[in-house]
Amino acid sequence: MAPSAAQRIVIENCAIATVDANDTEYASGYLVVADNTIESVGAGNAPEGLENVVRRIDGTGHLATPGLVNTHHHFYQWITRGLATDHNLFNWLVALYPTWSRIDEPMVSAAARGSLAMMARGGVTTAMDHHYVYPKGSGDLSGAIIRAASETGVRFTLARGSMDRSEKDGGLPPDFAVETLEGALAATEETVKKHHDASFGAMTQVAVAPCSPFSISTELLRQGAELARRLGVRMHTHGSETVEEEKFCHELFGMGPTDYFESTGWLGEDVWMAHCVHMNDSDIAAFARTKTGVAHCPSSNARLAAGIARVPDMLAAGVPVGLGVDGTASNESGELHTELRNALLINRLGAHREAALNARQALRLGTHGGAQVLGRATEIGSLEPGKLADLVLWNLDTLAHSSIADPVTALVFGAAAPVTLSLVNGRPVVEHGRLLHIDEDALARTTRAEARRLARIAAEG
Ligand SMILES: [Zn+2]
Repeated sequence: MAPSAAQRIVIENCAIATVDANDTEYASGYLVVADNTIESVGAGNAPEGLENVVRRIDGTGHLATPGLVNTHHHFYQWITRGLATDHNLFNWLVALYPTWSRIDEPMVSAAARGSLAMMARGGVTTAMDHHYVYPKGSGDLSGAIIRAASETGVRFTLARGSMDRSEKDGGLPPDFAVETLEGALAATEETVKKHHDASFGAMTQVAVAPCSPFSISTELLRQGAELARRLGVRMHTHGSETVEEEKFCHELFGMGPTDYFESTGWLGEDVWMAHCVHMNDSDIAAFARTKTGVAHCPSSNARLAAGIARVPDMLAAGVPVGLGVDGTASNESGELHTELRNALLINRLGAHREAALNARQALRLGTHGGAQVLGRATEIGSLEPGKLADLVLWNLDTLAHSSIADPVTALVFGAAAPVTLSLVNGRPVVEHGRLLHIDEDALARTTRAEARRLARIAAEG
């Protein structure tokens, strides 16, 4: 298609936080989207004489930002929310594994659509799912998750997870909940070959993602890293989440989690890790040196009493940090825009107090930081010409926000702002707070029915 034939969407009269390298903002500006990319952004009105403008949007009272990027989630947990609500991580996992090991394809499909819908409605334009429970005979779970993301209309990374260290090998999951080493590696390779798209602007990518040190063998970590690097895809896992995990690593491997990951090939610029709460100075230095990314999940860390990740220290050291919802069995809201606020507030309870994070840094974590840890910072995460048109128009002309002095402060410190419009790849996904490709009421009924079916099957044992 010749450039002149591009279809354009023009957004004007809104505040804009570009989240570019200089944190450029416009009190009143414009954005021009041409097909799936951002053509121009600036102060004042859009240039005159643009051709093929199919839509012109008056953004008065709104703030435009890059779309939010979620870097850690477990979609299947959407149908096991509200359980084990007063537990730490290990007790919570042991309580839930027997139920999780009974999931099947219709359950996972409904849970994925519920998780995705909730995030998309709140301004997420790039989602990820770390899925690591693959019971025998449960169907094509990875395919169901990828189809759900495609139906919702968001950009997506499937982190194909796995577990092969069960109770009999000193791990936490029950024996019936895990795969074999060979089976997990073969299925992961097949998923990458079938679904991963390495091209610029890809809507679907796949990462290699063994679950956590206490549910995977050392061999799965080692061979998983080799597989990912042979296939040229990213690597993801959980790390340094709780004091119990740290103790587990010292007892089994004779070293802390970060040293263990380094010894198995799991630090590097192609790796991002969820949580990273219990990190000492040398752990943070190792992440910074290797450019290993972090998915910071403040609400889940609070829900499971895991602790406060040292995000200000990580940022000062140069560690790439994004935000994660984490699975909704440990963060029932399932929203990412509220994580901007929670990241800011929770980090102010740590050592740096009021200097820990500001509103702009929180917005950066949820956008550009997420794009960095997913390896997509040249494509998404800021509003700049040539980047993909993944953006959100937040309505701040509401009772909750209209008297807050500054739009970025209103977005981060204020109540969750409604999404008037979100675009993914230049295509509308949310309009006036409603999802365009999903029937929310029907989905609410489906997810409730699947949650009840799972509870019934789990109760039968
Ligand atoms: Zn997780």
